[in-house]
Amino acid sequence: MSFYLDIILPLPLDRRFTYSVSQEEAEFLKPGMRVAVPFGKTRIYTGIVAAIHNNAPQLYEAKPIEQILDEAAVVTSHQLELWAWISGYYMCAEGEVLKAALPGGYLLESETLIQLTPHFDLGELELNDQEYIIVEALQTQSSLRIQEVMQLLDKKTVLPVINSLVSRKALVVNQEIFEQYKPKLTRYVRLAEKFSSEAEMHKLLDDLSNAPKQRDAVLSWFSFRAQSKKPVKLKDLSAASKTSTAVIKTLIDKGVFDEYHIQTDRVQFDGEISNTNIQLNEWQQEALDSIENIFTEDEVCLLHGITSSGKTEIYMKLIEQVIARGKQALYLLPEIALTSQLVARLQAYFGDQVQVYHSKYSVNERMEVYSNVLNDKDKARIILGARSSLFLPFQDLGLIVVDEEHETTFKQFDPAPRYNARDAAVVLAKMHKAHLIMGSATPSLESYFNATHNKYRLVTLNRRFGNVLLPEIEIVDIKEKYRKKQMTGHFSDRLLEEIKISLAEGEQVILFQNRRGYSPILECTTCGHSPQCPNCDVSLTFHQHSNQLRCHYCGYHMAMQQQCMACDSIELTTKGFGTEQIETELKALLPDAKIGRMDFDTTRGKYGHQKIISAFEQETIDILVGTQMLSKGLDFRKVKLVGIMNADTLLNFPDFRAHERSFQLMLQVAGRAGRTQSRGKVLIQTYNPHHQIVKQVSTNDYEGMYREQLEDRYQYQYPPYYKLIKFTLKSRDYSKTNDAADWLAKGLSISFRENVLGPEFPPVARIRNEYYKNILLKIPPHQSLGKTKTYIEKLLASFKAIGAWRSVRVIINVDPY
Ligand code: ADP
Ligand code: ZN
Ligand code: ZN
Repeated sequence: MSFYLDIILPLPLDRRFTYSVSQEEAEFLKPGMRVAVPFGKTRIYTGIVAAIHNNAPQLYEAKPIEQILDEAAVVTSHQLELWAWISGYYMCAEGEVLKAALPGGYLLESETLIQLTPHFDLGELELNDQEYIIVEALQTQSSLRIQEVMQLLDKKTVLPVINSLVSRKALVVNQEIFEQYKPKLTRYVRLAEKFSSEAEMHKLLDDLSNAPKQRDAVLSWFSFRAQSKKPVKLKDLSAASKTSTAVIKTLIDKGVFDEYHIQTDRVQFDGEISNTNIQLNEWQQEALDSIENIFTEDEVCLLHGITSSGKTEIYMKLIEQVIARGKQALYLLPEIALTSQLVARLQAYFGDQVQVYHSKYSVNERMEVYSNVLNDKDKARIILGARSSLFLPFQDLGLIVVDEEHETTFKQFDPAPRYNARDAAVVLAKMHKAHLIMGSATPSLESYFNATHNKYRLVTLNRRFGNVLLPEIEIVDIKEKYRKKQMTGHFSDRLLEEIKISLAEGEQVILFQNRRGYSPILECTTCGHSPQCPNCDVSLTFHQHSNQLRCHYCGYHMAMQQQCMACDSIELTTKGFGTEQIETELKALLPDAKIGRMDFDTTRGKYGHQKIISAFEQETIDILVGTQMLSKGLDFRKVKLVGIMNADTLLNFPDFRAHERSFQLMLQVAGRAGRTQSRGKVLIQTYNPHHQIVKQVSTNDYEGMYREQLEDRYQYQYPPYYKLIKFTLKSRDYSKTNDAADWLAKGLSISFRENVLGPEFPPVARIRNEYYKNILLKIPPHQSLGKTKTYIEKLLASFKAIGAWRSVRVIINVDPY
């Protein structure tokens, strides 16, 4: 009898591949283990065993595997099940899911680049001969391909050697660009060595008798050390001895204290657990009881709780219960911008049982979390992460929390798998028989629809914690303000007035403008020309700080122009405005205020968000200007005023969800105001003060918004009534893109008729010199999704057979918005 394996390879190919193994190998192997297999003429890939069987493939001769890489499975059966579901539902290859699911270090292949981990202490390592050869080679050569390692060691089976070095963190693979921002260093002080003897110490205190402040600082340091052997933070010492840091600085300069730094790894828990108990208020308790009740019936729960109602504390209670039963809990967040605050909150409560996982982590960090979740349940009881943490190898998952479930960042747009983590989480929870709660102050129309139509269950919480009132919302008609000349730049007199009041009261301000850069468009008043990106069909955006015109799609940039490039006129004007311009205007208007900006441009790097968020928390910033990043559930305690600079850019977005989204965004930003003590205030500047959505935001009328939008969706046949599948065709050839799109649309129309929309060029039809065209397929509620997909697959197979369109890529996006 012959033995075969079905292998999932990390490639965008629609099937599994069959390889042959010996009987001993077949007996040793289990689904979820990794094997190295040959592919094509020269390549070697790491693949995952999906099945072991005795059926020879019919169309090709199965090649033998190269090597077995694991002693035990690194992928669980639930993971394999989830991958298969995602690949089926979102119409992508299992290999694409695999690539998204496993940290890169697990998937070595012949083309993988390896490097020594920077600053790694090799002296600590015990190396065998082969490992030594590799490490030595990498000391003279900055990187090696695995292929080259095969030559170096003169054998093909090198992956185990490399795996072992990777798992001991000596090597990194396909390294991303290194962090620009240095993690924060905390300043510590200790008494200099020479004062360690009793005599020296007494002499020192005598010497300092004329400098009582310095003496206090030294005594204070001793009392710290008397309490615990922990290092003493400069900040704590200054606070405890009531001396300024300048005094301590003097002691450092005199050589009494040594200053030193310890890198604070912010994801590593080092503090004490502070709130050992959360006391829920009456309303939270009531909500918790309802949720528990719903869980006993094994149903999915949607928690609709207004901003600052204390949803997080309810989640924490639920988590506490599942981990007490020895299970794992997954806390999904839409955005890493949010993690730092939440990590702190969760760690203060749960200590080091919390692990964090997201894409800004390095490969090594991600591998470590992955392996903890798989092998060390005690270290990884609670996993806090962005959408990809769905793919971790949970052993015994008891609860999934999907926080801010309405957020679009739960959806992955590019590359495949184009999955929505919120929806996939529901499937994952089912597989594990785990409970799932999703929560939001502004639920997505779909989830609210599900919760009110017997698919999920609804729990509401409509009081803010501490009974703080929701902020008062004032609408400012800027058309009127412009007419009456009551605008200074983009600020109405009302907004300026309120900002000044808040600052005078020592409170903080958030200003929201959903566009980064200085001003989107530079336009010649003589001929109307505005500088365009040469690679994309968009105008360039002016960035004042760098004095550049930049493309937000491809990164192309050029120096700011003083003259029109078309007619040489110097009469240039700017249209629209972004966060950078708001910041500049504000600096001129309020020169004494400390202003910060949070947008894509200021938050690069792993700690980008955190730097700004901490600065705002620690009040080194008075006014924070930012884009939609500010709306993501951040919990600031001293924000009195929120200003929305312009509601209209949101409302006018050409998308069937524009109104729902504007409502969510504005209400969420507004929710950052007055969260803890006194009532906050929100000013919305708009040209359309009577717009229905603006009104609904100002009266916090979620239900009204929901009903009205749902009516529209019904009328125009959009989700949640109809399902959508979007096809995007792209290529460098304009007419091929066009023709191919026409062909595909026609093919779809044969079966789906009027439910095929397009082909249509998107608003930006050319990006990086590739042309884009979209087709939208609407699937009515009674139409079988399975059959629809089968038809699409057949059609695409015929499409791919047409040679002329080999260069045209078709991207399928299920539930695209
Ligand atoms: P939401 O997630 O609903 O917007 P949060 O969970 O952030 O609200 O709660 C808002 C604020 O109220 C936070 O600062 C939080 O620490 C505080 N809070 C909520 N519930 C409690 C509680 N039971 N005990 C103490 N503080 C609470
Ligand atoms: Zn011109
Ligand atoms: Zn461009």
